[in-house]
Amino acid sequence: MTKGIRRYDTLAAARNWAPDHNGEPAKSMNITEIFGQNTLQQEDLKERLPKAIWKDLQKTIQEGEQLNPEVADAVAVTMKDWATEKGATHFTHWFQPLTGLTAEKHDSFITPNQGGGAIAEFSGTDLIQGEPDASSFPNGGLRQTFEARGYTAWDPTSPAFIMENQNGSYLCIPTAFASWTGEALDHKTPLLRSNEALDKQAKRALNLFDVDTKRVTSTVGCEQEYFLIDQEFYYRRPDLMTAGRTLVGAKPPRGQEMDDHYFGSIQERVLSFMLEAEKELYKLGIPVKTRHNEVAPGQFEIAPIFENCNIAADHQQLMMITLKRVARNYGMECLLHEKPFDGLNGSGKHLNWSLSTSEGMNLLEPGDNPHDNMQFLFFFTAILKAVYEYQDLLRISIAHAGNDHRLGANEAPPAIISAYIGDQLADVINQLMDGAAKESKQGGLLGLGSPVLPSLPKHAGDRNRTSPFAFTGNKFEFRAVGSSQSISFPIVVLNTIVAEAIDDLCTDLEEKVDDGKSFEDALGTVLSTSLKETNDIIFNGDGYSKEWEEEADKRGLLNLPTTMDALPHLTDQKNIDLFEKHNVLNEREIHSRQEIWAEQYLTTRNIEADTTEAIAKTMIYPAAVRYMNELAENVERIDRLGLNNKGSQDMLHKVNDGLNDLNDALEELREVVLAGNGDSVIESATYVKDEVIPVMNKIRDSVDFLERYVADDYWPLPIYREMLFVK
Ligand code: ADP
Ligand code: MG
Repeated sequence: MTKGIRRYDTLAAARNWAPDHNGEPAKSMNITEIFGQNTLQQEDLKERLPKAIWKDLQKTIQEGEQLNPEVADAVAVTMKDWATEKGATHFTHWFQPLTGLTAEKHDSFITPNQGGGAIAEFSGTDLIQGEPDASSFPNGGLRQTFEARGYTAWDPTSPAFIMENQNGSYLCIPTAFASWTGEALDHKTPLLRSNEALDKQAKRALNLFDVDTKRVTSTVGCEQEYFLIDQEFYYRRPDLMTAGRTLVGAKPPRGQEMDDHYFGSIQERVLSFMLEAEKELYKLGIPVKTRHNEVAPGQFEIAPIFENCNIAADHQQLMMITLKRVARNYGMECLLHEKPFDGLNGSGKHLNWSLSTSEGMNLLEPGDNPHDNMQFLFFFTAILKAVYEYQDLLRISIAHAGNDHRLGANEAPPAIISAYIGDQLADVINQLMDGAAKESKQGGLLGLGSPVLPSLPKHAGDRNRTSPFAFTGNKFEFRAVGSSQSISFPIVVLNTIVAEAIDDLCTDLEEKVDDGKSFEDALGTVLSTSLKETNDIIFNGDGYSKEWEEEADKRGLLNLPTTMDALPHLTDQKNIDLFEKHNVLNEREIHSRQEIWAEQYLTTRNIEADTTEAIAKTMIYPAAVRYMNELAENVERIDRLGLNNKGSQDMLHKVNDGLNDLNDALEELREVVLAGNGDSVIESATYVKDEVIPVMNKIRDSVDFLERYVADDYWPLPIYREMLFVK
């Protein structure tokens, strides 16, 4: 009989993993040499392109001007030459459908000809437009199948790059993905549009402060958390393979209680992985800066230096792909799920966000003279207003099945959106609100008392990790983003709501100035009025506490605990108005997103339910039955020998109870799954949340109960203790 012995083989294989460097001397890495070697940087293009073409291209990249076909042709030739010099044989339009992943379809640079030879072909048309057979990407009703084609369009603002493989490499051209009617089917298109909206409003505001700039964009830097486990375990866990998280599994006797993992020294195998992953990321021009252990055992973090939001979003996708790919070279699986292990910290992605001019001025850097202070306070006030007025959208932007396990679970920010600004800024803002009340006497901002803002500690935010949206000295940190998700939509929301708030404040300000008020007076009034309306969003206390939930409720802040509480609000009229006004998404595009995301939620949960059932029925139940037989035999034998068999009897009862509970829960699951069929995707998804998940949890409870009683050598699944601590 094999029993659970196979699990021990797995364990042994994991334990015996060894690097294949055979004691070769340590390698070193020359970062400056390899950095960006696989991306077509602006400098490369400048060097290779005729001057006039280069200038034209810059107009497109920096000022958003339409690209002319001649330029496209010239860039295509240059791009192909560069890529083939690097050994690329194929190219692909690389895009980001609404699955949250990336997609590619490869075409060869070489076209075989009749005579048996081959010619290299890649034209401007190939560069700027592609037509992937994209009928199976989610479109939420935006495309009928008869017009399912959709097309991809080159994004010249994000550098093309080369992906390498042992057996060859290919050129990736970042593209947007749209339907033939021009509707966005992807994450990149609205991101670019939202940055346009932000640019327009931010420049309008800067103009009032006499600052002239070519362009304003949001800047983004993400701290990515992830788990690593040995692949031997991964392939023995159907739940990890299909759902990305463990659907059953009892907590280990020693979890993260010892707090010995965080910032601990990094294990050799993990370090090897990190170094190779970083090397690959450097080659792609991704400026990785930080690495460290995280709170949970087996959990780590990687963070790059910030970049403009569009490039940061592309790079974030590449980072996730690279982490997963490189981990396999070290016999490990990188888990990006928000909650791979129950009872341990989950993984998030802190999205650091700020605003920058093309000349590099950070608009969220507090100033060191009164004029700069005012400008800073203007943008700061606009952001608080944006977060207050569009709490729902921020909440929706991070809503998906995986994140439901993390938010509000006392290890991640709650589902209530609030902003942490620290005591010093809170003080400044209180003065500003008071000051403007006495405005006529004191004259607007002079009521601030101090002409220069106190210098704010850059890492102030880290003192309060419980806030979903924290000001950390010169940027905001949106901490509720899930580890596996695309960061695009959260950025779209931030860009758009802040554009809207700036728009409102500017309109107020311009009117007051037109009415003859001085700029300073007008500004003081506008800011203090806005702050008074929106400062309920500020919360500097413990976001994990029960009291905050009550307090937030009193303040009338939204509390949308799960995806299916949040997602229906995406199509609220005020949100449609917002996105349409700023040309970020039209009504159809918004509806399609809601539909796609509800569908994704539903599919995820259905897969989880099916997998839970399969594991419970075909792996756990049989193991428990075998052990029960052994116990039953034992009970009888002991009895025949005339000995006290209480111990075995007790065990037998426990396992039998566990099995009966499991059986009941499995039957209940069948019933609820069969009964559920809503009229709309939203209804079906909500049903699954309300009815199916509780039963899945019952199954889990029974399985985890059995895990504590069934003989270890019968247990078929790698257990938490093994997965988390063996590396
Ligand atoms: P921590 O949050 O752990 O204290 P840092 O403050 O050094 O770490 O930065 C965290 C992340 O914030 C990094 O990815 C960094 O590049 C990013 N970041 C720093 N400044 C900005 C900015 N102006 N805009 C966007 N992201 C930024
Ligand atoms: Mg941080």
